[in-house]
Amino acid sequence: MTGTPTHGFDTLQIHAGARPDPATGARQTPIYQTTAYVFRDADHAAALFNLQEVGYIYSRLTNPTVAVLQERIATLEGGAGAVCCSSGHAAQIMALFPLMSPGMNVVASTRAYGGTITQFSQTIKRFGWSAKFVDFDDEAAVAAAIDENTRAVFCESIANPGGYITDLDAISAITDAAQVPLIVDNTTATPYLCQPFKHGAALVVHSTTKYLTGNGTVTGGCVVDSGNFDWSATDKFPSLSQPEPAYHGLKFHETFGPLAFTFHGIAIGLRDLGMTLNPQAAHYTLMGIETLSLRMERHVENARKVAAWLETDPRVEAVTYAGLPSSPYQKRAERICPKGAGGLFTVAVKGGYDSCVKLVENLNIFSHVANLGDARSLILHPASTTHRQLTPEQQEAAGAAANVVRISIGIEDANDLIADLDQALAAATA
Ligand SMILES: *Cc1c(COP(=O)(O)O)cnc(C)c1O
Repeated sequence: MTGTPTHGFDTLQIHAGARPDPATGARQTPIYQTTAYVFRDADHAAALFNLQEVGYIYSRLTNPTVAVLQERIATLEGGAGAVCCSSGHAAQIMALFPLMSPGMNVVASTRAYGGTITQFSQTIKRFGWSAKFVDFDDEAAVAAAIDENTRAVFCESIANPGGYITDLDAISAITDAAQVPLIVDNTTATPYLCQPFKHGAALVVHSTTKYLTGNGTVTGGCVVDSGNFDWSATDKFPSLSQPEPAYHGLKFHETFGPLAFTFHGIAIGLRDLGMTLNPQAAHYTLMGIETLSLRMERHVENARKVAAWLETDPRVEAVTYAGLPSSPYQKRAERICPKGAGGLFTVAVKGGYDSCVKLVENLNIFSHVANLGDARSLILHPASTTHRQLTPEQQEAAGAAANVVRISIGIEDANDLIADLDQALAAATA
């Protein structure tokens, strides 16, 4: 069984894209640890290089293990196709690359992963691209920021680090009217909790490093295409709608239809940028995805318990978890991520920067790491780590002020997590 979209999520997360190995009958997807693939003959090779036939040439472009992962993630998201790459940040560049050119801009949410804010505000300038950051709770500001040079709008479904929920329905109404694609980073929600294509997104990106792999073993990323965006409706996306000189004038959208973005991502993006995912990493991520729904249920259950406990603790100023009845995002969370608001939130600790540092240092079960979405509980003080490069104003806007720690709740026993936080808060605020 390869898994069809009519099956339930729990079935698809195990079967989509996979079949017993035709050569050996191996039940589990083999790790195809090979760089190249033998051509049947010269005509076969020519057809592959002309994109007239789909097949394997060289593992910078495609690999059978990686291909299973691509199909699995595309199916879970309800998309037409997906391209995996070497990290979440690589996926962001891979998503923007076919859309942008010098002078063009992306409108992005101020509430985003710190690394994304740095990538968008600094590094993409070297390609001649730019980003305009706005508060995505202010829909008028998002609409006003889109100009004739805007080629994409970018936000996170559940925003890292604050756990804020973006109103994807409202934002996609704006991007539809402007005829630009909405790209949603769905890393912190995963397709189990949120399916951005159902809320109007054109593209989804993932850091598969996080919940999809789920145990902190490998880095990876993925760009998923809904297949629904009309790249030819305007002249804004010539890489997809106009003849491609490197493929004898082939037009990706005309030739590949809903798979245009995916084919472009492999044939141009991976070929020339080379941000390829290796088959060993794809294997770890496939193993992780098999238990995604079970883990996400526990992440959500634990996050609810721990956030509720923290909220009533006198040593704590505020908890941002959108799953709490007190959260201004709770209603929106029920619409955007009906199975739960994830496992990530921030906590404002009394005593500010110093208390946060002591809290982080006194925990035993929680690990102080710059990661999230692991089976184990993790904690981070963004202001002294991931968000260090940002100005205090940017930190505040991103939900990462100096008195804030980010918590990624794992799948351990919730009572043990609460006891660990209790003793470390005592040490931090003594
Ligand atoms: C970690 C993360 C990224 C970057 O992914 P890497 O795999 O570390 O490159 C992007 N977006 C979000 C929301 C993340 O949590």
